Amino acid sequence: MDTSNECTSFFGSAQSSASSALQGLCFCERPTVVKTANTEKNFGRRFVSCENWKINQDCGFFEWLDPKMCSFGRKVVHRLHQRHEYLEAQAKRCETLVEVEVGKVRAENEKKIAQLKAEMESEISQYRK
Ligand SMILES: [Zn+2]
Repeated sequence: MDTSNECTSFFGSAQSSASSALQGLCFCERPTVVKTANTEKNFGRRFVSCENWKINQDCGFFEWLDPKMCSFGRKVVHRLHQRHEYLEAQAKRCETLVEVEVGKVRAENEKKIAQLKAEMESEISQYRK
């Protein structure tokens, strides 16, 4: 039974707890892969599994690489994840705003250029007369 419950595991000491599964083979004899859980209960917790995990031909091989996180650690990670998603949404909104503004400026510039061209052409045609 896994008795460790250290919050520090998420930030580095996990390597020492890596089991032989890390460089082993799964039940279907393919090299195992390290993945990171994104469920609320185990967000950010790494595990070793069959490369076909939850896809077709999953042989069922599964082993946690990182120890279970304490409830406080889970809360912190959950909040950081929420904050990250919020900031990403904000950044996307800003990007959209910038794109809209750039589009406006570009359209204005094109209009001005077309106007200047027309003016220049009419001036040139006057000299040619
Ligand atoms: Zn497998």
